[in-house]
Amino acid sequence: MVKLCDRNICTGCSACASACHGGAISMVADSEGFLFPSVNADICSGCGLCEKACPQLAQVEKHPAPAVFAAWNTNDAVRCSSSSGGLFYTFARHIIEQKGVVFGAVLSEDIHSVSHTYAVDMDGVKPMMGSKYVQSSIGSSYREVKEFLKSGRKVLFTGTPCQVAGLYGFLGKCSTDNLYTVDVICHGVPSAGLLKFYLGDSAVQKTISNGGIQAGAAYSSPLAFRNPAAWPDSFTGPMKDYVSLFLSGQFMRESCFSCSHTSIQRISDITIGDFWGIGECQPFDGDTSKGCSVVLVNSEKGSRLLDSVKENLFLQERTAGEAIARNAQLHSPTQRHPKRDSSYNYIQHHSLLSAMLHFVDYSFSRKIKRLYKSGIGAAYLVTGRTVRPRKRNR
Ligand SMILES: Cc1cc2nc3c(=O)[nH]c(=O)nc-3n(C[C@H](O)[C@H](O)[C@H](O)COP(=O)(O)OP(=O)(O)OC[C@H]3O[C@@H](n4cnc5c(N)ncnc54)[C@H](O)[C@@H]3O)c2cc1C
Ligand code: SF4
Ligand code: SF4
Ligand code: SF4
Repeated sequence: MVKLCDRNICTGCSACASACHGGAISMVADSEGFLFPSVNADICSGCGLCEKACPQLAQVEKHPAPAVFAAWNTNDAVRCSSSSGGLFYTFARHIIEQKGVVFGAVLSEDIHSVSHTYAVDMDGVKPMMGSKYVQSSIGSSYREVKEFLKSGRKVLFTGTPCQVAGLYGFLGKCSTDNLYTVDVICHGVPSAGLLKFYLGDSAVQKTISNGGIQAGAAYSSPLAFRNPAAWPDSFTGPMKDYVSLFLSGQFMRESCFSCSHTSIQRISDITIGDFWGIGECQPFDGDTSKGCSVVLVNSEKGSRLLDSVKENLFLQERTAGEAIARNAQLHSPTQRHPKRDSSYNYIQHHSLLSAMLHFVDYSFSRKIKRLYKSGIGAAYLVTGRTVRPRKRNR
């Protein structure tokens, strides 16, 4: 019987399912909404290709210490449609101009889930812009990358580090000369179950239908998780409370708590993230008010890619120490909270307000303010109860 990696460290990357020619592995959502491989023993031939592809069984090699830059796109419209500095857009445009193909994460049409897809023009790239703080499902993307590489096309694959690791695991000995990989510094991922819960709240639905579009932006996302025009306080707007639940760490996939990619040494050619705390350790006089990315150039190929787009960027070399100082995900995984055990079960039976009070670390005065805003403050003070639990459908 085939032996894939332990469930607690399975990232859901889909490398095993993509490697199985006979279709014996399907990715199936568990009760929390996270995808895990399920092997059909009746079809399995025991060839072992899935085990060879799993990046958690044979770790993918990391590059040595990177060169570190602070950067942003000098086009303000692009910068304001992105999450930190609009670096992804400029890499993608370069690859598209070379008649290449770009892979990245997009929202589903009903905005309730996220999946990977590819683009051959900039219209296809635009929905990939901006962070979606939900696990993206890989689907057939790894196989498509392989087909494009075989046909001689340049490919840019972007995603979380574990998705890039899954791609390398799947590709094995296949030539990667035309493959460029860009990963994000990664806090961890909740399942689409959290997003569905959040979007099911009537007040959230009302807020989102009344706005959320970024004026003057190059791409108006139907669901902007952040507002880079207010960077570094960019977690504002209709998704603010969702992001608070996400950042609480209590909805992450189990593998995120022991993630091996939370380090300055990376597997991708380039890594992008937020340059939190820029200027705190050493002087910096650039205008970061519309976002600032940290860029780790991990390989020779990454260095060539950055070089070919630098005329579109503000770019300044910085130190690794400065990048790590305020970005916890460059030195250690998100810590597991005891409430993680029951978090998905909790949101099936409680309202959004209850969940916010239960999971987000509010001060007492902010708690009271939220309760009064919701109109149930007095009842809470008398009874000590938040809101009546109710059964939710996911
Ligand atoms: C789940 C997640 C967690 C993150 N955690 C951190 C963190 O802790 N610290 C930090 O500094 N930065 C983090 N980032 C990265 C940050 O939010 C920005 O994405 C990054 O700085 C790049 O910004 P940009 O302006 O260059 O490009 P943008 O246009 O904002 O980025 C778009 C890129 O992100 C990819 N992407 C978007 N959503 C997903 C997804 N769900 N899964 C896989 N890929 C996705 C797209 O494919 C594309 O490559 C995280 C991103 C994600 C998606
Ligand atoms: S051993 Fe081979 S046939 Fe069986 S699940 Fe793995 S890849 Fe598929
Ligand atoms: S290949 Fe990816 S999805 Fe499959 S078992 Fe390994 S980590 Fe999990
Ligand atoms: S924290 Fe690690 S395991 Fe979790 S999604 Fe990010 S890269 Fe993958």
